[in-house]
Amino acid sequence: MTDRRYWDEEFECRPWTENQQWQVKQLPATLARLRNDSLLYADLLDSVEPSRITSLDALADLPMTGKEDLRRGQEEILPGVILGRQQAVPSERIVQILSSSGTTGRPVYFGLTEADRGAWLSSAAAMFFTAGLRSDSVAALSTAMPIVAGGLPYADGIRATGAALVWLGGQPTARMVSTLEQVQVNAVVGTVSFVTFLPARVQELLGRPASSIGVRTVITGGEPGIADPGTRAAIAERWGARRVSEIMGLCDVLPGIWSECEAESGMHFIGGPDVLVELIDPDSGQPIAWTEGAEGELVYTTLTREATPVLRLRSRDHIRVLGVGCACGRATPRIRCVGRTDDMLIFKGMNVFPSAIRDVALAVGGDRLDGEVQRRQQPCARELVADVVGIALVEVGFGNF
Ligand SMILES: [Zn+2]
Repeated sequence: MTDRRYWDEEFECRPWTENQQWQVKQLPATLARLRNDSLLYADLLDSVEPSRITSLDALADLPMTGKEDLRRGQEEILPGVILGRQQAVPSERIVQILSSSGTTGRPVYFGLTEADRGAWLSSAAAMFFTAGLRSDSVAALSTAMPIVAGGLPYADGIRATGAALVWLGGQPTARMVSTLEQVQVNAVVGTVSFVTFLPARVQELLGRPASSIGVRTVITGGEPGIADPGTRAAIAERWGARRVSEIMGLCDVLPGIWSECEAESGMHFIGGPDVLVELIDPDSGQPIAWTEGAEGELVYTTLTREATPVLRLRSRDHIRVLGVGCACGRATPRIRCVGRTDDMLIFKGMNVFPSAIRDVALAVGGDRLDGEVQRRQQPCARELVADVVGIALVEVGFGNF
């Protein structure tokens, strides 16, 4: 296992256009299943002939699904149908229930059949392998809730790479810190906030810097702060890590969809066998090409998901394309997450992400600021801009963990 360079060489390394062509070929059968087996999609695809959806342009004409559609589909309890109108298999075939983190409203629940569980395991393993875990890794996982994608599915994925899983989430900080030391943890998996702030607690509790405990790899995501080079450098320095890798998935889709390789130049798309990804203009809904510098929102269609499939699900994640292909040999697009639509402010008619304000503040006062953002519950943009120039910020509420 340590000799392999890629988790799934076929999907990660073949030319991106070939990958897309392969995915488009799966669409007619995928859409037929959605229309025939799910009440939600029987309505949405009522007038669609699945056999005619044979191109990305044809897919772009189909309706998109929003989180609110999934939530509404679970409002009414349907006897014997445990996951509401989205469910596309008999309840007897479902072997695991997961939920969204609920940071943007009431949680939505999802299911996995045995085949779905295989796809989830393989995607989470691909994500952690790409991010640097190997059989000699001793990997601490900080997620506290087993039911979310960052919980049991991450734990499964970490073990599948051959790494030793050390699930610390949910324990008091002192216990977490003593375990890091005791079992010689050399990789840490957690949100950007967690991996940024834990080193100070390590120093406090162990009386020596976190950089002395032997962590080589930090794997993080769930918040866009890692796109800032200063934040990334600070994380590497505090842990004494050789590598900081960003990862991203979505509970409604797959736990592992994007992951950063050793080149540390953006997250690669690694969901190829199971999910089709589109980039769209969030205002017009029009598709955007995967070219360097392009920005837009990610939209996902599951190709293999049996229990709770999605069609053109709006992720609300806004990303920038850093390129397609990489020195590592992977041929898929590389991206950075810029922010989430849910967090976007409208200031004088312009869309402004908190992360953009942070970038400006750091550019003018980076020597006095530490790159963290505080977002108020009901932000007033003018007040927020004034605040960030003088104080430390903590971005909250982002999160696919
Ligand atoms: Zn790469």
